[in-house]
Amino acid sequence: MNPDFRPALSVVIPVYNEADGLAALFARLYPALDALGERYEVIFVNDGSRDASAARLAQQQRARPDVTRVILFNGNYGQHMAILAGFEHTRGEVVVTLDADLQNPPEEIGALLAKMREGYDYVGTIRRQRQDSWFRRHASRWMNALRERITHVRMTDQGCMLRAYGRDVVDTINRCSEVNTFVPALAYTFSLRPTEIEVAHEERAAGESKYSLFKLIRLNFDLMTGFSLMPLQFMSFLGIALALASGALFAWLMLDRILFGSQVQGVFTLFAITFCLLGVLLFSIGLLGEYIGRIYEQVRGRPRYVVQAVLDDTETD
Ligand code: UDP
Ligand code: MG
Repeated sequence: MNPDFRPALSVVIPVYNEADGLAALFARLYPALDALGERYEVIFVNDGSRDASAARLAQQQRARPDVTRVILFNGNYGQHMAILAGFEHTRGEVVVTLDADLQNPPEEIGALLAKMREGYDYVGTIRRQRQDSWFRRHASRWMNALRERITHVRMTDQGCMLRAYGRDVVDTINRCSEVNTFVPALAYTFSLRPTEIEVAHEERAAGESKYSLFKLIRLNFDLMTGFSLMPLQFMSFLGIALALASGALFAWLMLDRILFGSQVQGVFTLFAITFCLLGVLLFSIGLLGEYIGRIYEQVRGRPRYVVQAVLDDTETD
């Protein structure tokens, strides 16, 4: 790697089965970056796509070898792992992440860069008129509200991945070895001067969202468990409250029996209470499991991702 090559800007783009939309992405991304008049590099991370994405990226790397680098994973490790792998290869003073599906307009990168130069080390974004389904928009709103409450991470729109990070923040992230993480929240933790700007949002150019409902729930668990212990503490307090309440109920029932004699009533109430408590119990065990599973993945210490190949001719620059 040529140590003299210090671009002003590195753009990191995770790619998973986006073959149909890549041509449109290249057609807008490169002109937008060239128009900035800065030295830049683009790092694509192919997250084990099973379509022609890898071939398209390799083709693009040959077309613009001066500024394009491609990292090929040997399997699918998830968007956030792909971004982390990209971060490890960045050399720019400012690092911008972007989705490959053109939902984040590449023309906004200039605005992010300008904001960073005002002295911030992290620029988050808020999607103006978000172009997603009703369900996604509302689920995000609830998740944003929950995250505001239980973590220290303050951001208006956690889901938008068009963001800019300063060199120091990225260097610190590169020293972390988290297996399950949420990059914007991790960056926020290390940022000294974060801010946010509004950006446009577009409909997906081609293909479908790579997040199933299950993957979305998993991702939100990564965020909540990775940045807060409050869910565990909440369960402890709930446990104490329920124990006190059932103690009081027991005392009252005993008193009732002594004063008014035995009554065979309220069996269904008892069922209802028992099932409700069982639900709470199962939920707490599940919650514990979410933490323990993540601890297990972390202590196993397997590689977080495996890079199959890096296509990079920028050294000769
Ligand atoms: N992505 C990835 N690995 C995955 C899932 C997604 O690299 O396992 C990439 C995907 O190619 C896209 C970005 O992450 O560039 C965001 O994914 P998507 O647009 O499907 O998410 P949504 O916009 O629906 O939240
Ligand atoms: Mg998208």
